[in-house]
Amino acid sequence: MHDLLILGSVNRDLIVHAPRLPEPGETLRGKSFASCIGGKGANQAVAAARLGAKVALGARVGLREGGAALVAQLASEGVATHLIAQPEDETPGVALIVVGAEDGENQIVTVAGSNGTLPVDQVEALPLAGVKYLVAQQELPPASIARAFERARAAGARTVLNAAPFRPEAVSLLPLVDLLVVNALEAAALLPGEPATSEALALALRQRGPSSVLLSLGAEGLVWADAAGCRRHAARKVRAVDTVGAGDTLVGALVTALAEGQAIEAALRFAQAAAAIAVSRPGVQDAMPTRAEVIQFLE
Ligand code: ADP
Repeated sequence: MHDLLILGSVNRDLIVHAPRLPEPGETLRGKSFASCIGGKGANQAVAAARLGAKVALGARVGLREGGAALVAQLASEGVATHLIAQPEDETPGVALIVVGAEDGENQIVTVAGSNGTLPVDQVEALPLAGVKYLVAQQELPPASIARAFERARAAGARTVLNAAPFRPEAVSLLPLVDLLVVNALEAAALLPGEPATSEALALALRQRGPSSVLLSLGAEGLVWADAAGCRRHAARKVRAVDTVGAGDTLVGALVTALAEGQAIEAALRFAQAAAAIAVSRPGVQDAMPTRAEVIQFLE
């Protein structure tokens, strides 16, 4: 049985490194090409599995264009994949990423593919007995996420929304959310015109429904707000090499620690350690630490 059910996206990331970003209509000679698995659901599930969580991913991965290999990759990481629908006539989500060497700037186009068609019916069929935390991001249809949260709550699980990438539908999901995780941009988009300090924003977001709010602040760490008030937790000091996916590592690690029964302060320390290790290495899933690495880092 799995303690964590992550409902989210799976993408194939196609990454080329070029000397710079191309102008419209221009063809450039690139330097290298790599293909890897991505999507916020897959990233958070892999982060959790590497840290020892019993985690299942609820997702939809079309089998066209080699979708089966994405599912196999997740299974090889220890993610339970039996709740992933694999329609033969659909194409998986894709992210086309060009990284320009001059300043590391990037250009990304994503196509939702089968992530965008995950139906409410699939959510109705998800087994929820024994699930402690149900986690969703915003790369799936909002109606499916809303139904998953309703069902999870009715089954006694806690609901976690990582409102990334920001979509306005997040506002209507908040009453169904126990723990909201947002970065500073997402928080500001959720509550436009609200007070400028992070603490005030986190407290204002709490008023919209979630009993706990985590507002992440990159190298500055995070603000946590719950019934006991609001407090800041500094990030671990590391030399940042690649911060893409920091939030996904943070979420995967936090729910892993909470599902194990760690108290909130310890769970935040664990999650920020995992995220700090991830930003100190290149890649997204490649950079995510094992449990042993996090424990050693915390010593
Ligand atoms: P997102 O990736 O969603 O934008 P953030 O950039 O806020 O999220 O990062 C999430 C968490 O990752 C932070 O709260 C912090 O713990 C960690 N983190 C991010 N950047 C750094 C950094 N430069 N040094 C140390 N930790 C970092």
